Amino acid sequence: MTAPSQQELDEYRADARAWFSEHTPKDPGFMLPLTFMEVGTQQQFDFLREWQNKVWAAGYLGGNWPEQYGGRGLPEVFRDIATKEMSRAGGPIMLNAIGLNWAGPLILDMGTDEERARYIKNILSAEDIWCQGFSEPEHGSDLGNAQTKAVRDGDEWVINGSKIWTTQGNFAKYMILLARTNPDAPTKYKGLSFFLSPMDAPGIETVPIRKLTGEYGFTQTFFNDARIPADCLMGEEGEGWKVAMRTLEYERGARGGQPGGYVMTYPDITQVVELARTANYNGKPAIEDTLIRDELVSLLMEARSLRLSSARTGMAPLNQERPLSIPLSSKLVSSEFMKRMAELATRLQGTRSAYYVGDEDAHAHGIWQRGYLNSFSATIGGGTSEIQHNIIGEHVLGLPKS
Ligand SMILES: Cc1cc2nc3c(=O)[nH]c(=O)nc-3n(C[C@H](O)[C@H](O)[C@H](O)COP(=O)(O)OP(=O)(O)OC[C@H]3O[C@@H](n4cnc5c(N)ncnc54)[C@H](O)[C@@H]3O)c2cc1C
Repeated sequence: MTAPSQQELDEYRADARAWFSEHTPKDPGFMLPLTFMEVGTQQQFDFLREWQNKVWAAGYLGGNWPEQYGGRGLPEVFRDIATKEMSRAGGPIMLNAIGLNWAGPLILDMGTDEERARYIKNILSAEDIWCQGFSEPEHGSDLGNAQTKAVRDGDEWVINGSKIWTTQGNFAKYMILLARTNPDAPTKYKGLSFFLSPMDAPGIETVPIRKLTGEYGFTQTFFNDARIPADCLMGEEGEGWKVAMRTLEYERGARGGQPGGYVMTYPDITQVVELARTANYNGKPAIEDTLIRDELVSLLMEARSLRLSSARTGMAPLNQERPLSIPLSSKLVSSEFMKRMAELATRLQGTRSAYYVGDEDAHAHGIWQRGYLNSFSATIGGGTSEIQHNIIGEHVLGLPKS
């Protein structure tokens, strides 16, 4: 495909802007999740599923994915325009985060044509919600030691074990599942296989887990002699580690190809600046306090550098010296940044920060307090900050393996 002209891009942007301005749902009358990890009620789920379906049907999700699988076959620049316009209109998050951002790109990348035809379109349309079965009660960071077992029995695999922190596990139709098919393999990694598992198989049970925020969003998932069809195996038996590592590259944003939209809404640093103008801090507006000003300026600079770094990843000539340094650092720096920003916004409220979501007197409906509690999740899910430091140390700085 030839590169789009400026006129084509401008027309697409104008159409997208008009569409989002007309269709973006206003206040639904109940609290919407800020991230895909907080979808706790059927009401939230139904609302967000309908919204994703609508965006996809209008052509503003998956624009860059192949047409035969439900996309529009357009260059990625169109996807980016659509996402920007969605954000400009303040639209809710896309629900099917794991399907859109890691299972889908993974299947397009490493799956068979049959798997692409079976799964991709329904990921975009939100018909099929996906979850991820990697972490286990005793094996999170230490994923290579996962112990959930899959044993071949005729035309089926029999699964036994338990996964935990399964985001949207109670809503999902499919799970990307890492399970041990050979306990006697020469290395722990070679004993693992990767499955695209249905969640409605008999023997699979999900139990919701309540979070620090008081909300629900993930489950513990139990497999008791659960039988799934043999063709759920993705790739070769014993190659699950390779597929799982590729999945994590998508999850951590180190590999592109996602279909657009966003699955988390980030508060803007300028909102913290506004809060500092009005918050009373030691008897005067917080923004007049030298130390607070210093913190704000540091955060503003960091926010700007995060934006520029993200733009830089798309420009190959600027990434030649250490090609992976920005993609491999992005999850760590952005999640830690969000945590510090939410902490400052909460601190600026002084004693009023004790009010939470649901309290009439809470500033901005308690959104910062909730955001602060939630910000810890992002520094854990998808690999903790400590693990991200190890990865950067080894793969970017060339330090010895920890
Ligand atoms: C909101 C949320 C959603 C999640 N969703 C999913 C999901 O959908 N599917 C899924 O499979 N999992 C999910 N997870 C689980 C997540 O991937 C794990 O929590 C994470 O990988 C850490 O594993 P763990 O909880 O077992 O902690 P542990 O691995 O036990 O770690 C405990 C502490 O030890 C540190 N540590 C461990 N190993 C090292 C090391 N080698 N070097 C330095 N420090 C180390 C860790 O950094 C951490 O501070 C989610 C987690 C959260 C918070």
